[in-house]
Amino acid sequence: MPLFINRDQIFAHQVHLLEHKLRSKEEHILELETENALLHLRLAECFGKLRRGRNEEIHAQRQKHQHQRKLQKSTFAALSKLLSEVQVLKQDSRGIFTVYMGFAKELEDQSKQLFECVGTARNTIQDHQSNDIQKFQARLAALEHSLQEEKQRCREERQKRMLLHNSLIELRGNIRVHCRVRPILPFYDRPGSPTTYGSSLCEAVVQAINDDSVLVNCAKSPAMNKIFEFERVHGPEDSQETVFEEVKALLTSLLDGYNVCIMAYGQTGSGKTHTMIGSQSEEPTAAVQDFQQGIIPKAATELFKLISEKPADSHTVEMSVVEVYNNEVLDLLARDEDGAAVGVKREVITTSTGTSEVPCLTYKFVRSSAEVMQLINSVLKLRAHSPTLVHMDSSRSHFIVTLTVTSKSPDALALACKLQNARQEVRGVSQKEWWSPRCRRAASLRSSSPTSSPCHSPCHSPCPSPRPSITQTPLKTKLQLVDLAGSECVGMSGVTGAALWESSCINRSLSALSDVLGALAEQRPHVPYRNSKLTHLLQDAIGGDAKLLILLCVSPTQHFLTESLQSLGFGARARQVQREPPCRKNTTLKINQN
Ligand code: ADP
Ligand code: MG
Repeated sequence: MPLFINRDQIFAHQVHLLEHKLRSKEEHILELETENALLHLRLAECFGKLRRGRNEEIHAQRQKHQHQRKLQKSTFAALSKLLSEVQVLKQDSRGIFTVYMGFAKELEDQSKQLFECVGTARNTIQDHQSNDIQKFQARLAALEHSLQEEKQRCREERQKRMLLHNSLIELRGNIRVHCRVRPILPFYDRPGSPTTYGSSLCEAVVQAINDDSVLVNCAKSPAMNKIFEFERVHGPEDSQETVFEEVKALLTSLLDGYNVCIMAYGQTGSGKTHTMIGSQSEEPTAAVQDFQQGIIPKAATELFKLISEKPADSHTVEMSVVEVYNNEVLDLLARDEDGAAVGVKREVITTSTGTSEVPCLTYKFVRSSAEVMQLINSVLKLRAHSPTLVHMDSSRSHFIVTLTVTSKSPDALALACKLQNARQEVRGVSQKEWWSPRCRRAASLRSSSPTSSPCHSPCHSPCPSPRPSITQTPLKTKLQLVDLAGSECVGMSGVTGAALWESSCINRSLSALSDVLGALAEQRPHVPYRNSKLTHLLQDAIGGDAKLLILLCVSPTQHFLTESLQSLGFGARARQVQREPPCRKNTTLKINQN
């Protein structure tokens, strides 16, 4: 291997290398030029794009501008139009406002005027109204006043009418008849009770239509329809107090010297015992003290109240209680040897004075209404009772309480002396009777029958003859309070056997009572008092000179129509009786007039 390197080769190699380098450089230049051209191309492209974009943008902007200009133009046109319209509106509104202001002013003026007018009108109306109201009020007050006056006058007239009617009744010697229609009662009148009546039978067909009339109005039997008039009629709503108010005056009469008899008549269950004695309230909440007092306790209270107003010890009251049972008079105050209460049989006699008497009848002094009721309650247990179809506790006897008032009033005695002296002066006779019609009747009786029965009881006539001294004989008047047995027919009470006898005795005694009234009404010479113990016992009250009040008790329902009609008929008959006027025991005026 040569040690020396050829220079040419080196040069050649270097030239080759350089050429190679050159070629690669040239290639690189070529590449770069290509790249440059490409970039130029891309740049041109970009420029082109850019120019196009700009042109488009410019175009778009130009269009936008144009559009905006158009819009602006139209908006401006619209605005200017609006402005002109607004100006026109402004003009209009200004005109309207002016008109409004004109109207407002006018309105204000007119409303002011109107207000003034209204004010004056109101004042005038108020004046008128207050005048009218005052006038009306004055008129109303005057009317009310005259109404009150009329009412008062009406009351007074009614009172006067009642008094006149009563006086007329008394003058005529009529028997006073009151009627009480009791309420419909569940036990007696409603279906479902032991007597289970049909519904139509529970209809009220007997009604108190006013103070003095009872209407019987039954659609089923119009032939029976009728109006009955009595001195006083009480409806179902009338209380025990109302009923008593109407008889209260008789108590004053009793102390004024009249004999008085109050008698309850009616069928079983019609309210006789309720009216005369009273009964326990049937309200479920009623307490024992809710006893609804009847005429007897109320009359006793009133009597003792009236006596308490008289001088002390001037009056004494004795009481007897009898029942007429099976046509026998039983003394209910009598006691047996052991002191037990038993009904002792007594007789009724007619005394020499023509009055009826029960010899040996037991009398008890009583000092208060409580004592009266205590005695009555003690003897009521003895009274004959038995259940009937219409009443679980039917009284089978006539129950008679008699209060005999003995008056030792100095006033009465002084008056009696004065009157006797006056009579002696007028007649110039000293031994004749001066007392009462009954005394005159007695005198005539005495002259025809000198043998007279002795009077054992305090009830004997207060006109003994001859009278050695008036001041020695106290004045006696009696109050008889009678609760009769039921007036229904035998069939109605549904009794049989021994009770049938009881019922027929009741019927016969009540028929006898009716007969006596009939005889008195027709003024027959013979009055059959003695046909029954009841009429014999009550002879003086029925036909004598006592003030007699019959209290008819009637049931309102159709079921009891026949019985009610019978009771009402009895009352009507009793009203026709004209007896001698009731006679006051302590005055000779009536005697002198006769
Ligand atoms: P009478 O004695 O006629 O057989 P009562 O007096 O015993 O009849 O009356 C029968 C029932 O009717 C009793 O329970 C009584 O309380 C009642 N009664 C009667 N009348 C009335 C009335 N006016 N108000 C309220 N209840 C009455
Ligand atoms: Mg009774």
